[in-house]
Amino acid sequence: MNHVVIGTLAFDSIETPYDKRERAIGGSATYFAHAASKFGPVGLVGVVGQDFPDEVLEDFRGRGIDIEGVEHAEGESFFWAGRYEADWNTRHTLETRLNVFADFDPKLPESYRDADFVFLANGAPAIQRKALDQVRSPRLVVADTMNLWIDIARDELIDLLGRIDGLVLNDEEARMLTGEANLFRAAGKILEMGPKFIVLKKGEHGAFLFGEEHRFALPAYPVDNVVDPTGAGDSFAGGFMGYLAHTASLDPSSQRAAMLYGTVTASFCVEGFSTEEIGLHGRGAVDRRYDALRAFVTP
Ligand code: AMP
Repeated sequence: MNHVVIGTLAFDSIETPYDKRERAIGGSATYFAHAASKFGPVGLVGVVGQDFPDEVLEDFRGRGIDIEGVEHAEGESFFWAGRYEADWNTRHTLETRLNVFADFDPKLPESYRDADFVFLANGAPAIQRKALDQVRSPRLVVADTMNLWIDIARDELIDLLGRIDGLVLNDEEARMLTGEANLFRAAGKILEMGPKFIVLKKGEHGAFLFGEEHRFALPAYPVDNVVDPTGAGDSFAGGFMGYLAHTASLDPSSQRAAMLYGTVTASFCVEGFSTEEIGLHGRGAVDRRYDALRAFVTP
Protein backbone atom coordinates (compact mmCIF):
# COMPACT_ATOMS: atom_id res chain seq x y z
CA MET A 1 0.00 0.00 0.00
CA ASN A 2 1.79 3.09 -1.25
CA HIS A 3 -0.61 5.65 0.22
CA VAL A 4 -1.75 5.50 3.84
CA VAL A 5 -3.92 7.68 6.08
CA ILE A 6 -4.24 7.61 9.86
CA GLY A 7 -7.15 9.47 11.45
CA THR A 8 -10.61 9.35 12.95
CA LEU A 9 -13.66 7.32 11.90
CA ALA A 10 -16.56 9.04 13.55
CA PHE A 11 -20.17 9.88 14.07
CA ASP A 12 -20.90 13.58 13.59
CA SER A 13 -23.92 15.59 14.68
CA ILE A 14 -24.05 18.76 12.63
CA GLU A 15 -26.15 21.89 12.64
CA THR A 16 -25.98 24.27 9.72
CA PRO A 17 -28.08 27.45 9.40
CA TYR A 18 -30.53 25.48 7.25
CA ASP A 19 -30.52 21.85 8.32
CA LYS A 20 -29.09 19.31 10.71
CA ARG A 21 -28.01 15.67 10.92
CA GLU A 22 -27.56 13.41 13.95
CA ARG A 23 -24.79 10.83 14.03
CA ALA A 24 -23.85 10.98 10.36
CA ILE A 25 -20.74 9.07 9.32
CA GLY A 26 -17.70 11.33 9.47
CA GLY A 27 -14.15 11.48 10.73
CA SER A 28 -10.97 12.96 9.35
CA ALA A 29 -9.77 9.67 7.83
CA THR A 30 -13.20 8.92 6.35
CA TYR A 31 -13.29 12.12 4.32
CA PHE A 32 -9.63 11.92 3.37
CA ALA A 33 -9.92 8.33 2.16
CA HIS A 34 -13.02 9.10 0.08
CA ALA A 35 -11.22 11.92 -1.72
CA ALA A 36 -7.91 10.08 -2.10
CA SER A 37 -9.58 6.95 -3.46
CA LYS A 38 -10.58 8.87 -6.62
CA PHE A 39 -6.91 8.66 -7.63
CA GLY A 40 -5.91 5.17 -6.50
CA PRO A 41 -5.89 2.77 -3.56
CA VAL A 42 -5.38 4.09 -0.04
CA GLY A 43 -4.84 2.19 3.21
CA LEU A 44 -6.87 3.34 6.20
CA VAL A 45 -5.61 3.23 9.80
CA GLY A 46 -8.14 4.03 12.51
CA VAL A 47 -10.31 2.60 15.23
CA VAL A 48 -14.05 2.02 15.41
CA GLY A 49 -16.31 1.03 18.29
CA GLN A 50 -19.01 -1.62 18.27
CA ASP A 51 -21.53 0.98 17.07
CA PHE A 52 -19.81 1.59 13.70
CA PRO A 53 -21.77 -0.06 10.87
CA ASP A 54 -20.03 -2.88 9.00
CA GLU A 55 -21.77 -1.73 5.79
CA VAL A 56 -19.83 1.52 5.91
CA LEU A 57 -16.53 -0.34 6.08
CA GLU A 58 -17.70 -2.61 3.26
CA ASP A 59 -18.56 0.47 1.23
CA PHE A 60 -15.02 1.78 1.85
CA ARG A 61 -13.60 -1.46 0.55
CA GLY A 62 -15.68 -1.21 -2.61
CA ARG A 63 -14.07 2.16 -3.31
CA GLY A 64 -10.50 0.90 -3.16
CA ILE A 65 -10.03 1.99 0.46
CA ASP A 66 -8.14 -0.80 2.19
CA ILE A 67 -9.53 -1.43 5.69
CA GLU A 68 -6.95 -3.90 6.99
CA GLY A 69 -5.66 -1.10 9.23
CA VAL A 70 -9.03 -0.46 10.89
CA GLU A 71 -9.11 -1.78 14.44
CA HIS A 72 -12.34 -2.80 16.18
CA ALA A 73 -12.42 -1.88 19.85
CA GLU A 74 -14.93 -2.28 22.64
CA GLY A 75 -16.87 0.90 23.30
CA GLU A 76 -18.24 3.75 21.22
CA SER A 77 -16.70 5.34 18.15
CA PHE A 78 -15.28 8.87 18.12
CA PHE A 79 -18.10 11.42 18.26
CA TRP A 80 -18.04 15.08 17.26
CA ALA A 81 -20.80 17.71 17.23
CA GLY A 82 -20.50 21.07 15.55
CA ARG A 83 -22.53 24.08 14.48
CA TYR A 84 -21.91 26.52 11.62
CA GLU A 85 -22.73 30.21 11.53
CA ALA A 86 -24.45 31.69 8.49
CA ASP A 87 -21.08 32.77 7.02
CA TRP A 88 -20.11 29.04 6.85
CA ASN A 89 -16.55 29.90 7.89
CA THR A 90 -17.29 30.14 11.60
CA ARG A 91 -17.64 26.73 13.20
CA HIS A 92 -18.29 25.95 16.84
CA THR A 93 -17.36 22.56 18.23
CA LEU A 94 -20.22 21.66 20.56
CA GLU A 95 -18.83 18.36 21.77
CA THR A 96 -15.90 16.00 21.17
CA ARG A 97 -16.04 12.52 22.67
CA LEU A 98 -12.84 10.64 21.94
CA ASN A 99 -14.33 7.30 23.08
CA VAL A 100 -12.31 4.40 21.59
CA PHE A 101 -9.89 6.90 19.97
CA ALA A 102 -8.65 7.92 23.46
CA ASP A 103 -6.72 4.66 23.90
CA PHE A 104 -5.94 4.02 20.26
CA ASP A 105 -2.52 2.52 19.78
CA PRO A 106 -2.17 2.34 15.99
CA LYS A 107 -0.63 -0.76 14.48
CA LEU A 108 0.10 -0.51 10.79
CA PRO A 109 -0.34 -3.72 8.80
CA GLU A 110 2.99 -4.91 7.40
CA SER A 111 1.84 -4.04 3.86
CA TYR A 112 1.44 -0.36 4.87
CA ARG A 113 4.91 0.09 6.33
CA ASP A 114 6.65 0.73 3.03
CA ALA A 115 4.21 3.48 2.06
CA ASP A 116 5.73 6.44 0.21
CA PHE A 117 2.83 8.82 0.88
CA VAL A 118 1.53 9.22 4.43
CA PHE A 119 -1.21 11.51 5.64
CA LEU A 120 -1.59 12.05 9.37
CA ALA A 121 -5.19 13.23 9.41
CA ASN A 122 -6.55 15.27 12.26
CA GLY A 123 -6.11 13.35 15.50
CA ALA A 124 -4.03 13.32 18.67
CA PRO A 125 -0.41 14.22 17.78
CA ALA A 126 0.87 11.33 19.94
CA ILE A 127 -1.17 8.90 17.83
CA GLN A 128 0.00 10.57 14.62
CA ARG A 129 3.59 10.15 15.77
CA LYS A 130 3.15 6.50 16.78
CA ALA A 131 1.76 5.74 13.34
CA LEU A 132 4.54 7.62 11.58
CA ASP A 133 7.17 5.72 13.59
CA GLN A 134 6.02 2.53 11.85
CA VAL A 135 6.55 3.75 8.28
CA ARG A 136 10.05 2.85 7.12
CA SER A 137 11.04 5.52 4.63
CA PRO A 138 8.17 7.67 3.40
CA ARG A 139 8.74 10.15 0.55
CA LEU A 140 6.04 12.59 1.63
CA VAL A 141 4.50 12.97 5.09
CA VAL A 142 1.76 15.55 5.51
CA ALA A 143 -0.24 16.22 8.68
CA ASP A 144 -3.41 18.05 9.62
CA THR A 145 -4.40 19.33 13.03
CA MET A 146 -7.14 21.21 14.81
CA ASN A 147 -7.67 23.77 17.57
CA LEU A 148 -8.37 21.05 20.16
CA TRP A 149 -4.90 19.53 19.71
CA ILE A 150 -3.14 22.89 19.51
CA ASP A 151 -4.81 23.59 22.84
CA ILE A 152 -4.28 20.34 24.74
CA ALA A 153 -1.27 18.72 23.03
CA ARG A 154 0.87 21.62 21.81
CA ASP A 155 4.23 20.12 22.80
CA GLU A 156 3.55 16.81 21.05
CA LEU A 157 2.34 18.72 18.01
CA ILE A 158 5.46 20.89 17.85
CA ASP A 159 7.54 17.75 18.17
CA LEU A 160 5.69 16.23 15.23
CA LEU A 161 6.23 19.33 13.09
CA GLY A 162 9.95 18.55 13.07
CA ARG A 163 9.24 15.21 11.38
CA ILE A 164 6.81 16.07 8.60
CA ASP A 165 7.15 17.56 5.12
CA GLY A 166 3.86 19.41 4.96
CA LEU A 167 1.16 20.71 7.29
CA VAL A 168 -2.40 21.56 6.31
CA LEU A 169 -4.35 23.82 8.61
CA ASN A 170 -6.88 26.63 8.49
CA ASP A 171 -6.27 30.31 9.11
CA GLU A 172 -7.63 30.24 12.66
CA GLU A 173 -5.41 27.27 13.57
CA ALA A 174 -2.34 28.97 12.05
CA ARG A 175 -2.97 32.03 14.21
CA MET A 176 -3.55 29.89 17.28
CA LEU A 177 -0.39 27.86 16.72
CA THR A 178 1.87 30.88 16.21
CA GLY A 179 0.17 33.77 17.99
CA GLU A 180 0.56 35.78 14.76
CA ALA A 181 -2.49 37.59 13.40
CA ASN A 182 -0.90 38.11 9.99
CA LEU A 183 -1.21 34.90 7.99
CA PHE A 184 2.02 35.38 6.01
CA ARG A 185 3.99 35.83 9.21
CA ALA A 186 2.15 32.88 10.77
CA ALA A 187 3.05 30.72 7.76
CA GLY A 188 6.70 31.82 8.00
CA LYS A 189 6.81 30.88 11.67
CA ILE A 190 5.35 27.45 11.00
CA LEU A 191 7.95 26.80 8.30
CA GLU A 192 10.61 27.56 10.90
CA MET A 193 9.11 24.81 13.09
CA GLY A 194 9.97 22.11 10.53
CA PRO A 195 7.62 21.53 7.61
CA LYS A 196 8.89 22.32 4.10
CA PHE A 197 5.49 23.59 3.06
CA ILE A 198 2.14 24.43 4.53
CA VAL A 199 -1.28 24.49 2.96
CA LEU A 200 -3.38 27.17 4.58
CA LYS A 201 -7.09 26.68 4.07
CA LYS A 202 -9.36 29.67 4.17
CA GLY A 203 -12.75 27.99 3.73
CA GLU A 204 -14.78 29.50 0.94
CA HIS A 205 -11.91 31.92 0.24
CA GLY A 206 -9.69 29.11 -1.01
CA ALA A 207 -6.24 27.91 -0.03
CA PHE A 208 -2.60 29.04 -0.06
CA LEU A 209 0.47 26.90 -0.53
CA PHE A 210 3.52 28.30 1.25
CA GLY A 211 6.77 26.56 0.45
CA GLU A 212 10.34 27.49 1.18
CA GLU A 213 10.76 28.35 -2.47
CA HIS A 214 7.34 28.78 -3.96
CA ARG A 215 3.90 30.07 -3.13
CA PHE A 216 0.58 29.52 -4.78
CA ALA A 217 -2.94 30.81 -4.11
CA LEU A 218 -6.24 29.45 -5.30
CA PRO A 219 -9.88 30.42 -4.70
CA ALA A 220 -12.39 27.79 -3.65
CA TYR A 221 -14.32 26.14 -6.47
CA PRO A 222 -17.47 28.22 -6.93
CA VAL A 223 -20.19 26.07 -5.36
CA ASP A 224 -23.62 27.67 -5.33
CA ASN A 225 -25.23 25.22 -2.93
CA VAL A 226 -23.16 24.65 0.21
CA VAL A 227 -24.96 22.09 2.37
CA ASP A 228 -22.35 21.17 5.01
CA PRO A 229 -18.66 22.17 5.08
CA THR A 230 -17.70 19.37 7.49
CA GLY A 231 -14.84 17.35 6.07
CA ALA A 232 -13.87 19.96 3.48
CA GLY A 233 -10.34 20.22 4.89
CA ASP A 234 -9.85 16.45 4.94
CA SER A 235 -11.34 16.08 1.47
CA PHE A 236 -9.00 18.80 0.25
CA ALA A 237 -6.07 16.92 1.72
CA GLY A 238 -7.29 13.66 0.15
CA GLY A 239 -7.40 15.18 -3.32
CA PHE A 240 -4.03 16.88 -2.80
CA MET A 241 -2.25 13.76 -1.57
CA GLY A 242 -4.17 11.37 -3.81
CA TYR A 243 -3.03 13.22 -6.90
CA LEU A 244 0.61 13.39 -5.74
CA ALA A 245 0.64 9.70 -4.81
CA HIS A 246 -0.85 8.85 -8.19
CA THR A 247 1.66 10.89 -10.21
CA ALA A 248 4.53 10.04 -7.81
CA SER A 249 5.90 13.52 -8.45
CA LEU A 250 6.61 16.23 -5.90
CA ASP A 251 7.84 19.05 -8.12
CA PRO A 252 6.27 22.51 -7.77
CA SER A 253 4.00 22.15 -10.80
CA SER A 254 2.64 18.84 -9.46
CA GLN A 255 2.03 20.52 -6.11
CA ARG A 256 0.07 23.26 -7.86
CA ALA A 257 -2.01 20.73 -9.76
CA ALA A 258 -2.55 18.92 -6.45
CA MET A 259 -3.91 22.18 -4.98
CA LEU A 260 -6.48 22.28 -7.79
CA TYR A 261 -7.43 18.65 -7.23
CA GLY A 262 -7.78 19.24 -3.48
CA THR A 263 -10.00 22.23 -4.16
CA VAL A 264 -12.19 20.11 -6.42
CA THR A 265 -12.59 17.18 -4.01
CA ALA A 266 -13.43 19.62 -1.19
CA SER A 267 -16.08 21.22 -3.42
CA PHE A 268 -17.90 17.90 -3.80
CA CYS A 269 -17.73 17.31 -0.07
CA VAL A 270 -19.50 20.56 0.89
CA GLU A 271 -22.42 19.88 -1.44
CA GLY A 272 -23.88 17.26 0.91
CA PHE A 273 -23.87 16.02 4.49
CA SER A 274 -21.39 13.33 5.44
CA THR A 275 -19.97 11.53 2.37
CA GLU A 276 -23.28 11.74 0.47
CA GLU A 277 -21.87 13.87 -2.35
CA ILE A 278 -18.18 13.13 -2.34
CA GLY A 279 -19.09 9.46 -2.46
CA LEU A 280 -21.10 9.93 -5.64
CA HIS A 281 -18.51 11.28 -8.03
CA GLY A 282 -15.73 9.37 -9.76
CA ARG A 283 -12.47 10.49 -11.33
CA GLY A 284 -14.24 11.66 -14.51
CA ALA A 285 -16.36 14.19 -12.60
CA VAL A 286 -13.28 15.27 -10.64
CA ASP A 287 -11.37 15.92 -13.87
CA ARG A 288 -14.25 17.89 -15.38
CA ARG A 289 -14.30 20.18 -12.35
CA TYR A 290 -10.51 20.42 -12.47
CA ASP A 291 -10.73 21.73 -16.04
CA ALA A 292 -13.48 24.17 -15.06
CA LEU A 293 -11.44 25.44 -12.11
CA ARG A 294 -8.38 25.86 -14.29
CA ALA A 295 -10.40 27.89 -16.76
CA PHE A 296 -11.81 29.90 -13.85
CA VAL A 297 -8.37 31.01 -12.63
CA THR A 298 -6.53 31.34 -15.96
CA PRO A 299 -6.45 34.80 -17.61
P1 AMP B 1 -12.83 19.16 8.78
O1 AMP B 1 -14.20 19.76 8.54
O2 AMP B 1 -12.10 18.85 7.52
O3 AMP B 1 -12.03 19.91 9.78
O4 AMP B 1 -13.07 17.71 9.44
C1 AMP B 1 -14.19 17.39 10.20
C2 AMP B 1 -14.11 15.95 10.64
O5 AMP B 1 -13.07 15.80 11.61
C3 AMP B 1 -15.40 15.50 11.29
O6 AMP B 1 -15.95 14.45 10.53
C4 AMP B 1 -15.02 15.06 12.70
O7 AMP B 1 -15.54 13.80 13.04
C5 AMP B 1 -13.52 15.03 12.71
N1 AMP B 1 -12.99 15.66 13.92
C6 AMP B 1 -13.51 16.70 14.62
N2 AMP B 1 -12.73 17.00 15.68
C7 AMP B 1 -11.68 16.17 15.63
C8 AMP B 1 -10.52 16.00 16.44
N3 AMP B 1 -10.30 16.78 17.50
N4 AMP B 1 -9.63 15.03 16.08
C9 AMP B 1 -9.86 14.26 15.00
N5 AMP B 1 -10.92 14.35 14.21
C10 AMP B 1 -11.85 15.30 14.51
